[in-house]
Amino acid sequence: MTTLLIRNGRLVDPGADIDEVRDLAIRDGRIVDTASLPADVEVIDAAECIITPAWIDVHVHLRQPGLDYKETVQTGTAAAAAGGFMAVACMPNTKPTLDSPEVIGALLDDVRANGHCRVYPIATITRGREGKMDVDYDAVIEAGAIGWSDDGDSTPDSAIMRRCLEASARLGRPVIVHCEDKAIAHGAMNEGEVSRTLGVEGIPSAAEEIIIARDCMLTELTGGWLHVCHVSTGRGIEIIQQYRERGVHVTAEVMPHHLVMSDEWVAGSRELHNTIEPVVAMAAPLDPNTKVNPPLRPVSDTQKLLKALQDGWFDCFGTDHAPHAESDKPADYTKAAMGMSGLEFAFPLTYALVRAGHLSVNDLVLRWTTEPAKILRIEAPTLTEGAVANVTVFAPEQEWLVTPESLQTKSKNTALLGRTLRGRAVMTIVDGEVQHRAE
Ligand SMILES: [Zn+2]
Repeated sequence: MTTLLIRNGRLVDPGADIDEVRDLAIRDGRIVDTASLPADVEVIDAAECIITPAWIDVHVHLRQPGLDYKETVQTGTAAAAAGGFMAVACMPNTKPTLDSPEVIGALLDDVRANGHCRVYPIATITRGREGKMDVDYDAVIEAGAIGWSDDGDSTPDSAIMRRCLEASARLGRPVIVHCEDKAIAHGAMNEGEVSRTLGVEGIPSAAEEIIIARDCMLTELTGGWLHVCHVSTGRGIEIIQQYRERGVHVTAEVMPHHLVMSDEWVAGSRELHNTIEPVVAMAAPLDPNTKVNPPLRPVSDTQKLLKALQDGWFDCFGTDHAPHAESDKPADYTKAAMGMSGLEFAFPLTYALVRAGHLSVNDLVLRWTTEPAKILRIEAPTLTEGAVANVTVFAPEQEWLVTPESLQTKSKNTALLGRTLRGRAVMTIVDGEVQHRAE
């Protein structure tokens, strides 16, 4: 277990109302009084660094079981630790899917053997994620799942959604929804001016908003708990806001890429919207690494999402870390798989909003620690004395070049390759053990 002294960092822990520059002492894996450290303790100079409770990502694809060629528990959790995370919730669109206590149990065994951070599995809503038959809602929760999701798709059958939300009301666990009406979502990018210019079939915002509205209605009907994944449109969060204002239990997450990237990225722009990050040259259009679901939306949506974040309508961030091998991302944009690598870019992309003056450090940390802990219903990590050390040291101004070698994730599907980013996690301590340390 770790014993060390982290000196002169800015400690930010919104849950404990801490924001001050001081030393942080860790002994035998716990946060202790600096006076109680041995004389020969290892000292980490953290001047210019921000020290926070380690982060939690509610939306990650670890690709195991069955899709090891994209990511494994080992590589995915190493990427999480490198990004500053102590815990991830993983999605069930694996092979087989996480639809039974047996598959969930086997995954958790794998995590115990190979994990670099905690993993909280999310079970499917329907068997095999096929949208036809309910899973045993109680049994999968008992096996360790923290909620249910058919992520990758919406569950088209409203009767199944109703029953899952009734289970949610009974068990106090969230139904975590990917909102997409497939009947009108055949395209490869957002439907709008840019898709028309590029001649690529688009996905209208309405495809997402229709299902958000349906699922909010079913939540009101059942008294369950809905957690809306990766809201990407201004209208989408507006619908959620209306139901929340009526007291319906709807929580929501927003992704860094939907806040700082737009459909103009598909046309080659590499401007990080809502930030003051350096401008880089245009890239070639139709980079398959800009293809994601829900798609990158117009700049106006990035602004509406930011406003909703500032107004408190998003509970938390999440990355939707969706690793894909090179073979899944052929040059033909319409054939490329949807999804971007996310874990190792969470800090630089969201801290960029802080640097631009749009978000306080306190709000940033709150939405990556205390609030996502509530979604998973786990104790929030804290920097207070006596707590088990779940701590991340971030160097907000440290520059690093994004190369395949700089990343821990097995897949390198990111449109940020070749770019210099500002800000990274230099040390991540998970349950008392150092799981990441930058050279
Ligand atoms: Zn999704």
